[in-house]
Amino acid sequence: MNDDSLDEDIPTEFETDNPCPACGSKLYFIFYRTRITYEEAVEIETFFCKKCLYKSTQVRQIEREEPKTLVLEIRNHDDIRTILYRSPEAKIQIPELEAEIEPGEISTGEITTVEGVLSHILEKLQLFDDNDADPDSLARITKRIRDIIDGSGEKFTFVMEDPMGKSRINSGRVIVLKHTD
Ligand SMILES: [Zn+2]
Repeated sequence: MNDDSLDEDIPTEFETDNPCPACGSKLYFIFYRTRITYEEAVEIETFFCKKCLYKSTQVRQIEREEPKTLVLEIRNHDDIRTILYRSPEAKIQIPELEAEIEPGEISTGEITTVEGVLSHILEKLQLFDDNDADPDSLARITKRIRDIIDGSGEKFTFVMEDPMGKSRINSGRVIVLKHTD
């Protein structure tokens, strides 16, 4: 038994006074510290309703690192299942799709996949109801993303720019650009 096992990976659980947003029962709070890819320490906090199984999870990273940009070329359908950790300050860009997700839409980090990010962009496009938006280009981008998720799309570049330096893409082909200035 090493020292790390003393305070990591052992969830703490207790009942809170917070009502479940779905059914009104008291929520349970579950907290634990663990390590995800590349030995990054994170804290995972979950509110959980034992009655209706409502669940809300936040992932918080513990330290900051040097700013960096991660780039992954998505070549095929397997690549969109790549798991990634997006820090709260990371901005995602897909130049080929003219798509961008600014930080600030999430207040804590999230573990997701490239496909999860694409689905998020699709949801945003469907909500897009701006007179300035060109409906033809919205339809074109929506179709391209659907094609990618269906496995018939063209390859594209997935770029994650992170001033906190904590984001990760779980792929051997990821290119890491350090910001040296
Ligand atoms: Zn509930």
